[in-house]
Amino acid sequence: MRPLTLAGAAAAAALLLFLAERRWPLRRPRAALLAGLAVNLTVAGIALSVAAATVRPLVLRALHLTTERPLGLFRWLALPPALEWPLAFLLLDLSFYWWHRANHRAPLLWRFHNVHHLDPALDVSTALRFHFVEIALSAAFRVAQVVVLGLGAGVYWAYELCFQANTLFHHSNVRLPIRFERLLNRVVVTPRMHGIHHSQVEREAMSNYGVLLPWWDRLHRTLRLNVPQRAIEIGVPGYARPDDNRLTALLAAPFRRQRDYWRRADGTVAERPQLPDPAGELAE
Ligand SMILES: [Zn+2]
Repeated sequence: MRPLTLAGAAAAAALLLFLAERRWPLRRPRAALLAGLAVNLTVAGIALSVAAATVRPLVLRALHLTTERPLGLFRWLALPPALEWPLAFLLLDLSFYWWHRANHRAPLLWRFHNVHHLDPALDVSTALRFHFVEIALSAAFRVAQVVVLGLGAGVYWAYELCFQANTLFHHSNVRLPIRFERLLNRVVVTPRMHGIHHSQVEREAMSNYGVLLPWWDRLHRTLRLNVPQRAIEIGVPGYARPDDNRLTALLAAPFRRQRDYWRRADGTVAERPQLPDPAGELAE
């Protein structure tokens, strides 16, 4: 897919979600909206430039390689497209689940992914706010996905479109009717489900790693749906000082000595009693 087509579609979707967030907010909207947007969009601009310089050329080269040579799972299997495409979607999404989980579990990766999580509010602009080193590291992961799975360009870009669209959607602060969202959440990751992943409670942030499909969390027992959005404080408690969200502080944070992520400045820990049946019904 041409980069401008993808970027144009993403910009239109982001704008629609931004307008919907203003009209129907799910959680308390971002305080100091313009200042928050300026920071997030600048971090995003740097990340996008790095993606254009690293992810895109490397993925294109990998896609070229798997077209030229019989390399990777799907090239060996040679399935009909009606089977290959759904299977490729599932395997791409499952591997992104593992990648996201690794970003939380591996201390080096978490240093960078923390920059995405320490946003004190969660809305569509958070969906774009990733440290540029996380993006550069993800280039290697994406190349591995293409080569190991032996993907063609068509299926890769189709998945990428769904991946980016749902990343914007599940980060957005849009209040959907709860019954509708429960239904939708059976097939895709939704804003309430992902809101729990951005909680200051460590146990809750270590849940709901899914990007497009919610099934991998159920399968790996990391699904947590029973936390109501009004009870959630967004962010990372160790990085909740106003200065932590300045542009230079964000870009430098991974290279500095790391604080105790889950302890507030006053020494307390964000906690909540374990609620029963975490994988039950999505709470309002
Ligand atoms: Zn995360």
